[in-house]
Amino acid sequence: MNFIIQASYFAAAFLFIFGLKRMSSPVTARSGIVWAGAGMVVAVLVSLAFVDPKNPNFVTNLSLILIALAIGNGWAWWQGKRVPMTAMPQMVALFNGMGGGSAAAIAAVELYGGKAHGTAFLALAVLGGLIGAVSFSGSLVAWAKLEGKMQRSIRFGAQQVVNLLTLAVTAALGAYLVYAGHAGWEWVTAFFLGALLFGFLVTVPIGGADMPVVISLYNAFTGIAVGFEGFVLQNPAMIIAGVLVGSAGTLLTLLMAKAMNRSISNILFTHFGETEVGGGEIAGTMKSAEASDAAAAMKYASKVIIAPGYGLAVAQAQHKLYEFVKLLQAAGVDVKFAIHPVAGRMPGHMNVLLAEAGVPYDIIHDMEDVNGEFKEADVAIVVGANDTVNPAARTNKSSPIFGMPILNCDQAKQVYVIKRGQGKGYSGVENELFFKDNCALVYGDAQAVMVKMIQALKELG
Ligand code: NAP
Repeated sequence: MNFIIQASYFAAAFLFIFGLKRMSSPVTARSGIVWAGAGMVVAVLVSLAFVDPKNPNFVTNLSLILIALAIGNGWAWWQGKRVPMTAMPQMVALFNGMGGGSAAAIAAVELYGGKAHGTAFLALAVLGGLIGAVSFSGSLVAWAKLEGKMQRSIRFGAQQVVNLLTLAVTAALGAYLVYAGHAGWEWVTAFFLGALLFGFLVTVPIGGADMPVVISLYNAFTGIAVGFEGFVLQNPAMIIAGVLVGSAGTLLTLLMAKAMNRSISNILFTHFGETEVGGGEIAGTMKSAEASDAAAAMKYASKVIIAPGYGLAVAQAQHKLYEFVKLLQAAGVDVKFAIHPVAGRMPGHMNVLLAEAGVPYDIIHDMEDVNGEFKEADVAIVVGANDTVNPAARTNKSSPIFGMPILNCDQAKQVYVIKRGQGKGYSGVENELFFKDNCALVYGDAQAVMVKMIQALKELG
């Protein structure tokens, strides 16, 4: 029987890794989710299939587990079906928080019940419990902020000192739990309350727009916590799944931070995007253009590159944008999309929007693949993007976004920027591109502007 269990866990681990590999390309990502999901079904079924009340390593209380599974699966299925694309980050935060909470719950069972034996197991249970509880309360705060149920950023005097003290006290309580062997319930409770409070305190000052990076970090935390608890329960599937989530989440967090040219500590402990930032005087003047003129210029161009950004998501203009692209292609124009790694407000935000509108993958290009082509483009059109196309990132050392790689839209012969008004980007800095001689602003909601452009192209025949 043990062989069947271990072989099934091995199969589950293979399916997780295979699924993750397929998620690395938009073409295979959907099937990757199905493969990894199949791995999870195998792992859950094999855990439930071997019920033996006499053996403490096997599952007991099957009926309670089935009730919990039915509630959890039913609720997640219902929520997953109805969630709008724009609410995806908070949904991920919530689901991730549940993972961290589950890891902390396993630790609680071990610590309250005096089940974890030996210093090593106790230490792993405590570590997993600490990280899981921080991820649980932190993710719930992230969810509440993104859902608009909590103030964007809550600050008070000596906040960092209070946070540090809370962490120090919680870590000391954890060390005592390991040292004491089986400490009383009040110590265990104080330890978990401290960890939950720390997750809450460290997340409340972080601005809403930084939340995607924070959610990714907590996702990594959840994976690590699950991995530790997998050791405590001696469950290889949990260890492998936890390590995979932990390493993938860490990589994603680092990649996002790198693409924003910021360090993780800067994201966690400073308040970027919340304050007005001066970028110095910018030479040149802003010029505006009519949507119909911009559309005509693109119809007679040979190469057009589109830089989409957060405003495209706000306006939900992806369908109209693709309709416009198809008209340009029918007129013989070579059209490409250029995707900045942190355009929008969550990883892959633009890819998801464009996939939703049915844009074929072969005209969607990552920044590093397409950036060299802007100088050959007749027109670059910026749809609701700002920071990701700001040349100050290349030239202005005093700018908060200095060093962030950007899309080279300014190198195109003509640039059109679609935006509603004088609104700044997420970083709060003025955009030098808007003042350049080869740039004109087409004012309006991106969807309304696209409708006008489509109309203009149709009228031109
Ligand atoms: P952005 O810098 O946030 O700028 C968005 C622009 O869209 C604004 O200038 C706004 O100007 C315009 N806009 C808003 N609603 C619009 C609408 N309905 N129609 C037309 N335009 C509209 O966007 P971005 O270039 O995509 O840059 C993303 C930023 O978010 C980066 O600074 C990045 O570091 C940060 N970030 C990204 C992630 C991620 O995972 N992707 C995570 C955290 C932070 P108006 O108000 O004038 O219209």
